[in-house]
Amino acid sequence: MTRAFVALGGNLGDTHAYLRQAFDALAALSQTRLLAHSRIYRTPPWGLQAQPPFLNAVAELDTGLAPHELLDALLDIERSAGRVRDGERWGPRTLDLDLLHMDGVVLHDERLTLPHPRIAGRAFVLLPLAELAADLELPGQGRVGALLAAADAAGCIVEPAGGR
Ligand code: ATP
Ligand code: CA
Ligand code: CA
Repeated sequence: MTRAFVALGGNLGDTHAYLRQAFDALAALSQTRLLAHSRIYRTPPWGLQAQPPFLNAVAELDTGLAPHELLDALLDIERSAGRVRDGERWGPRTLDLDLLHMDGVVLHDERLTLPHPRIAGRAFVLLPLAELAADLELPGQGRVGALLAAADAAGCIVEPAGGR
């Protein structure tokens, strides 16, 4: 079994419901246990400014799936949340699941890069990730707690438990 961290985000439709469904779907994956998940954060849009705020969280898994098998499972869960890839990069989406890190895995191919190459500088990933693993060392990027200290977390707030 390998420990893995998955980032969840979304800003279209009933995002709280999509995140809840995603936690359930992660917990139900074969050869996988959902160990923990962070609180949910409301965060300013990133990349494209003219879109609604995002809700973001991170899940910690223990999995027997290989990296590409886990990526395929994440893309399946996105599709079941109605995610449509229409070509606009970083645009609004119902659900985005990024595989942030798997213990002991560094790889780069046309489908998958691990660790996820754009964790540093993203407070919307680092805030929830640091709740679960502030001491995690991300190969090539640094320690999560240090990356968070260097990131701009302005405008990121914890959502009330249970959502609205
Ligand atoms: P970003 O990667 O900057 O957060 P994004 O999440 O909006 O952007 P997507 O359109 O969701 O990007 O993903 C594009 C492709 O990225 C996916 O189809 C997948 O093959 C690839 N990819 C590479 N590495 C990863 C990873 N670690 N986690 C998720 N997808 C990845
Ligand atoms: Ca993403
Ligand atoms: Ca993605």
